Amino acid sequence: MRLVPSPAAQEAPPMTLADPTLSAPSPTRLFEKYSPVTGASMGQFPIADSEAVEGAVARARAAFPGWRDTPLAVRLEAINRGRDVLLEQAETYARKIADDTGKPIIEALMFELAVVPMFLDHYLKRAPKLLTRRKVSTPMALLGKTGYIEHFPRGVIGIIAPWNFPFQLSVLPVISALIGGNTAVLKPSEVTPIAGEVVADFFRRMGLPPGVVEVVAGDGSTGAALCRANVDMLFFTGSVATGRRVAAAAAEKPIPCELELGGKDVFIVCADANLERAAEAVVFGSMANCGQACVSVERALVVDSVHDRFVELVKRKLARIKVGGPDEQAEMGPMTFAKQLQTVERHVEAARQAGAKVLTGGQRLDRAGLFYPPTLLTDVRPDMDIYREETFGPVLPVIRVRDEEEAVRLANASEFGLVGSVWTQDLDKGMRIASRLESGQVMINDVFSSVGHPGLPFGGVRSSGLGRYHGDEGLLTFMNPRAILVDRGKADYDPIWYPYTDKLASAFEVFRGVAGKKLGSVIRGFLGLRKASIDGHK
Ligand code: NAD
Repeated sequence: MRLVPSPAAQEAPPMTLADPTLSAPSPTRLFEKYSPVTGASMGQFPIADSEAVEGAVARARAAFPGWRDTPLAVRLEAINRGRDVLLEQAETYARKIADDTGKPIIEALMFELAVVPMFLDHYLKRAPKLLTRRKVSTPMALLGKTGYIEHFPRGVIGIIAPWNFPFQLSVLPVISALIGGNTAVLKPSEVTPIAGEVVADFFRRMGLPPGVVEVVAGDGSTGAALCRANVDMLFFTGSVATGRRVAAAAAEKPIPCELELGGKDVFIVCADANLERAAEAVVFGSMANCGQACVSVERALVVDSVHDRFVELVKRKLARIKVGGPDEQAEMGPMTFAKQLQTVERHVEAARQAGAKVLTGGQRLDRAGLFYPPTLLTDVRPDMDIYREETFGPVLPVIRVRDEEEAVRLANASEFGLVGSVWTQDLDKGMRIASRLESGQVMINDVFSSVGHPGLPFGGVRSSGLGRYHGDEGLLTFMNPRAILVDRGKADYDPIWYPYTDKLASAFEVFRGVAGKKLGSVIRGFLGLRKASIDGHK
């Protein structure tokens, strides 16, 4: 299943993919990948061990000073070559990602590949402004001095990616890290090893200097080795359970760590919502990518007066979704990961037994592969696992609420806080509700779009994660701020320096000026301090 290098690739610099068969002296462990569409084997894939990971980190560290010192414009130009690679390889990449994950090719194209040039465009414009040294205003008590902020890269970033969007959730963090001058070691998910190879191929074709991006293939043990290795920051996207381990490993050193974890995203339907649009949206928002998105709708909280009509509309629209593999012109593929399908089955079955109504779907399809149909549940209660835990599958639980107040209360009474949406034709009310939701992103009358907006920071609160990527925050998260204060250095000493003799009254004058915002008092106080200093130095 290895990618065959094209002539262009053969001209590219030496491959930086940390291929354990080349870099690890110990025997390579392999694992078998099975197609989510057919259940057939798709080949064996390597698991990089600690030694291979450390080798990759060492290469990324060796590449760091050169890449850091490359002018930003040159770095951006090199990164922007990714656009040409995508233009040239889109069909091949989309197909491979679709086969690996089971998702429709159109989803691979739009949600995995197309987002990358969108983010590139944004960062090409934004990075020069954001990463240039800027002056900050200086308070009157620091008269005569000037403050600046600039940013310098953290170093080697360890990036660990999940399987649900295996291309964009690998590529975007790496690119964001690279822009500021970091180098990166990426560990894609073992659930989607073919997509992992596509990512490695993408970076190799970009022709970046050796070591700037290293890709280490492997499973959780490889990820754990990357957390232990000599990296300067960890950026993790995945489950809460693994996120805790990654954070613990980062805390040991300590190094900064960003966590992009799960969600139990709410979809609040107010009585005045455009129900037709809301129903269309909830179907897309809960079923796209087979519901395997951290931004998927996981709880629809629907106001009592429109609940039944909404459910009826949704049920009808769900029936139109064609389920099948990438070759069946389907709108929804199989699930990607057998273990996740078991979670879906467990949640739905337990909810059914506890009294939820399954209006459509609710049982694995009788065919090869990991197919589960679009599933609609009503009468879901907060004591059910499907209400509290992330399901991450093609299942939509609908919860009837008395009013919008109850919806907000239930939305916020969650372990998670990643994304939410509010459906109303009163945009002021929508904004008021949005501002009360304790989550990283909120949409009004929309689903999915906010995560695709390159200018908006993305990330969660509580168990949904730590930190933000995308937007300005998404570049700065990989940077250390450096504060610089400049004094022109003309005076031999500052009035506040030693000696303190005869300075207390003037110091009080300065204090009263600063606290009471009286410039005259500050100046008088400083003149007194200065005189005392001159006298003290005689
Ligand atoms: P996961 O935690 O099982 O695996 C994620 C990655 O961590 C994989 O590459 C895996 O090999 C690696 N890993 C496993 N054990 C490790 C360890 N001990 N140390 C270091 N790395 C280790 O998650 P998953 O099942 O791949 O992804 C699904 C989860 O990701 C869902 O909860 C979903 O909500 C979340 N997610 C979040 C976002 C976001 O941006 N917030 C985006 C997509 C997915």
